Amino acid sequence: MNMKTLLILPFLALILGSVALAEEPTDYRFPRQCTKTPAGYPVPLCGMPLTKTPVVIKMEGAALKKYPEHFIPEQENLAANEMRITAVGSGNPPVRRGQAATSWLVELGNGDKFIFDAGGGTVPALWSLRIPLGLLDKLFVTHLHLDHVGGIFNLWDSMGWARNTPLHIWGSSGSTPELGVAAFADHVQKAAYWHTRSKTGIIPSGGMKLTAHEFDAAQFSPANPRAVVYDENGVKIYAFPIDHLLVGAVGYRLEWEGLSMAFTGDSVPTRQEAIQSRGVDVFIHELFIDAETLSKKNNMPLQIAENVVNEHTPADMLGRVFSIAKPKLGVGTHFFINDYTIDEAFAGMASTYSGPVVIAQDLMVINVTPEQIVTRMARTDLLSWATPAPRSAGGKRPKLDPAPTQGRTPSWVVDTRILDKK
Ligand SMILES: [Zn+2]
Ligand SMILES: [Zn+2]
Repeated sequence: MNMKTLLILPFLALILGSVALAEEPTDYRFPRQCTKTPAGYPVPLCGMPLTKTPVVIKMEGAALKKYPEHFIPEQENLAANEMRITAVGSGNPPVRRGQAATSWLVELGNGDKFIFDAGGGTVPALWSLRIPLGLLDKLFVTHLHLDHVGGIFNLWDSMGWARNTPLHIWGSSGSTPELGVAAFADHVQKAAYWHTRSKTGIIPSGGMKLTAHEFDAAQFSPANPRAVVYDENGVKIYAFPIDHLLVGAVGYRLEWEGLSMAFTGDSVPTRQEAIQSRGVDVFIHELFIDAETLSKKNNMPLQIAENVVNEHTPADMLGRVFSIAKPKLGVGTHFFINDYTIDEAFAGMASTYSGPVVIAQDLMVINVTPEQIVTRMARTDLLSWATPAPRSAGGKRPKLDPAPTQGRTPSWVVDTRILDKK
């Protein structure tokens, strides 16, 4: 290399650097090279989890299960004492192509599966996991913001074909009946009336129902800060109130076979949520971007951005929550993951907490066993087909209800059908 080339190199680097800084549109369908951020974290959406601790050892000296580099649907079975947690959506209300709103899937070695929140844009990632949809019928909602429940129509819309049984939805009551999860489920069903009526007689009707399991927000008090809201098959799920605008916002703690996780939805950080999540294997908590970046990047007036941020959890405060809860692995989610945002968030958490942390991105997979916690990314098909439908009892096809006779497409339109009768 001659002197001239050496002199040009820094300028070339500058030009290339500024191109990268100008935020060229990137399409995550194309493989991205896993370079590192200045602080040494993998860049988002490159197939690596956003962490420096992808493996957390719980039991020193124990034999450790080995995992492939990526999680591939249908290719891994859970051990009898293993839990798998998948970030189905890790983002914010402005749903992004590379980052949907909020949803988490928890799968247990006993076959049980639980969905926590189903925000807008999250369901395609859930479907890409190729789980028979009949098994995805338990939804727990932290609160009724649309970035946590806006995917309900897509989730429900496996009705009658792949899931011929009701979709069950757990959540809190509100301060008035219309603010509770039962009213929400009722309204969703009413809003979907054209949908369900038009499909009656075409597909089985068994899945066209939402069953709400509303628990009473008024039962919580300093003396009773949490309650069991699900207790079946060795799985206990506790709900506890959190600080997020209105009565009815809750966090959940799931315990099974000595393994545990907690998820608190959106919140202003409180000792209450930290204490209720104390000692869990995986604590999934929101992590919010600073007001200035939110204002600038999201084109919001600074005051509005500050109003929003004040209802959430900045990185240093999340570190404080984790330092009270002491999870084996702390997960920050609901964060705008960009190459230039994550270093500051990690630094913020590190300023108040020194335990292992991860920032979630969509389709991040966490395996939890008694011995270790392993975080990877899933590789799923962007064009995956429908997941297998459940087999009905005795191999019989489910019966169809009679199709509606009233209110059908007018005959003068039907009479113009182009039918090739050859
Ligand atoms: Zn919210
Ligand atoms: Zn939210």
